[in-house]
Amino acid sequence: MKCDQCSREFQSEEGYNQHMRDKHGVGKEKKEAPVAQQHKYKKKRSMKPVAYVLVVLIIIGLGYWAVSAMPQKPKVNLGSLGSTHIHQDFRAYIDGTIVDFSQPSYQLQNQYVHFEGGDGNVHHVHATGATLAYALDALRIRANASCITVGRQYCTSGDKVVKYFVNGDDNSNYLDYVMKDLDKILVYYGTDNETLMQEQINLIPDKAKNQDKTDELPSHIPR
Ligand SMILES: [Zn+2]
Ligand SMILES: [Zn+2]
Repeated sequence: MKCDQCSREFQSEEGYNQHMRDKHGVGKEKKEAPVAQQHKYKKKRSMKPVAYVLVVLIIIGLGYWAVSAMPQKPKVNLGSLGSTHIHQDFRAYIDGTIVDFSQPSYQLQNQYVHFEGGDGNVHHVHATGATLAYALDALRIRANASCITVGRQYCTSGDKVVKYFVNGDDNSNYLDYVMKDLDKILVYYGTDNETLMQEQINLIPDKAKNQDKTDELPSHIPR
């Protein structure tokens, strides 16, 4: 056999093939093809960890955003148990429905601030420094300036608003308000309508003033 490129002669086909491969690179391409494919595959695999890291970072980011947007547990500087004993007329509306604080799940949930005796109107405070946010948290209601969680979360959005009224005035800072004797408190989520809100303020019962201050303590404080 003769090489038509350099005229070298060969005894066997094997020798000829080897010569063509080594000297002229003929037949090498086929062998290289799988290597190239492997390379491509490797490249693809090495991209994957980057994608995983990105996905994890996005999840962490979203998680952080969700947590920071959620109402947090309030900080409070409470006095000792029994340092005061005051009452408020207290009501919460979620989209036109009164939150029924006479339900067992809202009764005596905290020894410092609570509804008691099956009554869902008069709120009792047994320690100085109790804020509205603390009272809500004791009822397992998480609240911030724009969101309130009563079972599920309700947020100011579109024509719906979250508002906190103390004695007829609304102010998102009222969450930090330290409750006083005979305050009238309305926690409101619903249509952003002044007339509607005023109606609900007017419907707050006037019972705290009749509350016997020699009630309960310490008999109803098992915890
Ligand atoms: Zn009490
Ligand atoms: Zn009381």
